[in-house]
Amino acid sequence: MEPGLTLKSISFSYGNYWSLDGISFGLNKGELVGMIGPNGSGKSTLLRIMDGLVRTDTGEVLLMNRPISSFRRHEVARQIAMVPQESIFRFNFSVLEVVLMGRFAHRGLFPFEEKKDLEIARESMRRTGTLDLERRSIHELSGGEKQRVLIARALTQKAQFILLDEPTSQLDIRHKVEIFELISSLVRGQGFGVMVVSHDISLAAQYCNRMLLLNKGRMYRIGSPDEVVTTDTIREVYQCPVLVDKNPITQTPRVTVLSRRPEHNKDIAVQPLRHKGTEE
Ligand code: ADP
Ligand code: MG
Repeated sequence: MEPGLTLKSISFSYGNYWSLDGISFGLNKGELVGMIGPNGSGKSTLLRIMDGLVRTDTGEVLLMNRPISSFRRHEVARQIAMVPQESIFRFNFSVLEVVLMGRFAHRGLFPFEEKKDLEIARESMRRTGTLDLERRSIHELSGGEKQRVLIARALTQKAQFILLDEPTSQLDIRHKVEIFELISSLVRGQGFGVMVVSHDISLAAQYCNRMLLLNKGRMYRIGSPDEVVTTDTIREVYQCPVLVDKNPITQTPRVTVLSRRPEHNKDIAVQPLRHKGTEE
């Protein structure tokens, strides 16, 4: 069976400056896929392509076996919910108002505060632990609270696929774990297909079923966390000295960033980076 959201030989470029090329994979329902890669490797662009917001130059994005470009915007929004990297609200919306925005996909602009919409919004807030924030302004929230509210909005959209762009980037370790726990419980419990972009590589490796490593707009590797997160792949792509071993509890790959000073790493057999000019 075809995955619900499939990318076939995608290419896309921003003018002559930068391009994404040779991207093919599918996101299945019931799986959590982690997308990693350095700054500027194309993660946000790829998510926008998957959401049909950016048209590809070649190749196609299929949603339920149909080109995503053949869907109207609100039809896409019933299938795919996006939690963007930056969500800036120009008005002083309450948390409940922000969560209710997820109903636009089903109601259009107005009217949307019907009883059923409110019930769906509150159910999403209950699942994300944001009910008691309902009347607060979106501008007053901490980073972790805001992320949970944005996930509540995505749930309110009642889509099958959720795409999250760096939802843990501003959070402390406890709140990072809470976000991964939340999204993995949604995948296991409700069967959503979720793609999450993250720089928390070890944490993503703990929770994700598959991972995709992007490098300069190309798919460097896709597979299980063990296949994707290795000392060689992370060093090569991030151009940073690391050691990947196994988390002793979860047995998933664990990334330790090494100092560039040789005297700090003398007990570890560190292979030099393969590219010239990056080593001191
Ligand atoms: P990532 O999310 O992995 O950091 P992005 O997808 O945001 O990467 O960006 C990939 C590359 O495309 C970067 O070099 C970035 O500067 C460039 N880029 C992103 N958005 C635009 C845009 N709207 N116009 C031109 N270049 C862009
Ligand atoms: Mg990005």
